[in-house]
Amino acid sequence: MKYEGMIFRPPSEADSLILQVTVGCSYNRCTFCSAYKEKRFRIKSFEEIKADVDEVSPYKIRRVFLADGDALSIPMKGLLQILSYLKGRLKGLERVGIYANAKDVLRKNGEELKALKDLGLGILYLGLESGDPEVLKRIQKNATVDELIRAGKRVKESGILLSVTVILGIGGVEGSLRHAAETGKVLSAMDPDYVGALSLMIVPGTPIAKEIEAGSLVLPTPFGLIQELETMITHCQCTHCFFASNHASNYLPLRIQMPEQKEEALRRIREVLQRKDPDLLRPEYLRAL
Ligand code: SF4
Repeated sequence: MKYEGMIFRPPSEADSLILQVTVGCSYNRCTFCSAYKEKRFRIKSFEEIKADVDEVSPYKIRRVFLADGDALSIPMKGLLQILSYLKGRLKGLERVGIYANAKDVLRKNGEELKALKDLGLGILYLGLESGDPEVLKRIQKNATVDELIRAGKRVKESGILLSVTVILGIGGVEGSLRHAAETGKVLSAMDPDYVGALSLMIVPGTPIAKEIEAGSLVLPTPFGLIQELETMITHCQCTHCFFASNHASNYLPLRIQMPEQKEEALRRIREVLQRKDPDLLRPEYLRAL
C-alpha cells in the first residue's frame, strides 16, 4: 500500500483497511485543523488506487476506509469506479467508510448517494463541530447550519449510516453554553446514527492557536467542557443514536445509547459536575488528539 504523508481515520475504523484515494483535504482551511496542512490536495489516479486494491486482494478484508480528509469530493464517476472495483476484488467486503464535508454531500443528489450505498458505501463521517452559526463562521467551517442539516438528512435518507463529529470547547468560554445548546439542537435535526464528541486540542501554529495566544479566544476549563457535554446531551433529541465521548481528547469518556440511556448519562455527568473532583477525569497526560 502506498500512503502519502500522515494518515487519519475515525477511531471506529481502527480495524479497517485504509485506502488512500485522495491526498489531503480539498478545503483545508478550518482554523482548528492541522491534519492535512502539509499536503497539496489531489485525487489519486485510478491506476494508483487499483494497484493498492490488487495488492491486498488475496486477504480477507471486511472493511475499507477511504482516506484522506474529504474523499467524497471525488466526482461521482470516480467514486463509482472505486467502489465497483473494491466490490469486485475484495470478496468478503462488508462496508466502506468515507470522510465528507457538507458541500461534498450536497454536490450529490439523493439518487447518487443511493447508488454509492448500493456499491458498498456504508458509513459517512461528517464534521459538524458546532451548531452555532457564529462559531462555524469563526472556525471557517465552509458550511452553514442549514447546509450541514440538509447534508446530514440527505445522507440518512440514502440509507448510508451517518456519523457526526462535534467539538467541545470550540465556542470558547464566552460562547460555551450557546455552542453546546445549538449543537444539541442541530444534532436533533440531523438525527445521526452516531455522534462522536471530541474536546478541542490546540495544535501549535494553527489559526485557532494564534487566537488563544492573542487572548481573543479563551478555552473552557475541564469542568467547563463537561458542562458543555451536559448541555449538548440535554438538547439532543436523537431518535436512535450512539453518542460517544470516549475519544482520547475527552476528560469524561461516555458511551450512550440515545434515547434509552440519556437520563442515566445526564445523572452521571451532573454528579461529576457537582463533585468537581479532578480524580474523576481522564488525567491530562492521557489525553491525545
Ligand atoms: S474540512 Fe475537515 S479535514 Fe478539511 S480542514 Fe476542515 S476539519 Fe480539516
